[in-house]
Amino acid sequence: MPAPRGRAPGGDPRGKDRGKMEGPKIGVLALQGAAREHLLMLERCGARGAAVKYPSELQTCDGLIIPGGESTAIGKLIVRDGFLDLLRERVAGGFPVFGTCAGLIVLARRVTEGEQPLLGVMDMLVRRNAYGRQVDSFEVDLEVRGIEEEERPFRAVFIRAPWIEEVGEGVEVLCSHRGRAVMARQGTLLAAAFHPELTDDPRIHRYFLDMVGRFGS
Ligand code: GLN
Repeated sequence: MPAPRGRAPGGDPRGKDRGKMEGPKIGVLALQGAAREHLLMLERCGARGAAVKYPSELQTCDGLIIPGGESTAIGKLIVRDGFLDLLRERVAGGFPVFGTCAGLIVLARRVTEGEQPLLGVMDMLVRRNAYGRQVDSFEVDLEVRGIEEEERPFRAVFIRAPWIEEVGEGVEVLCSHRGRAVMARQGTLLAAAFHPELTDDPRIHRYFLDMVGRFGS
């Protein structure tokens, strides 16, 4: 019987397991919201993705993604489950975190309306559900600064999305839609109002993995 292709005994370093052995390990916060698509995208980019439910699981992670969902729920669970101080401390030490949609809100210092628990590590003010009820979900081609082949647009999926109303000095806006910032970076923190994990385009995840690589080296 011929040997199965692409798999040496003990695992082929060039094969499917390559990322599992060598790639960075990225946690995806799995308290509430949609972690699965991020995990799939990370794997596709050659990284190891791990659903994170307990603070101790952060120890072995090189970076973290906070997914979309409901930012009030995610914020409350971050407090209840003991992530708040630990994450703030790690972020202060340069730990890379990427928030998408509700994750962007959780990263922000302030929201325009109401009070809700936030990590508050990114110097920006965000407006929740900014696009209103009538157009609560839409897709649009956007230009994103700094991604590979940046002249090729990124198909962005917005679902009851926030926008970034104001940014502080240390925050670089990477993408805007109709004059509103929808993606930004501050040091090792990255935030997108849309859902790059729901497209077939890995460029924004690769951008984050590149940030993780620089922090680790
Ligand atoms: N509307 C949600 C919030 O304000 C975010 C939606 C999403 O993550 N897709 O928390």
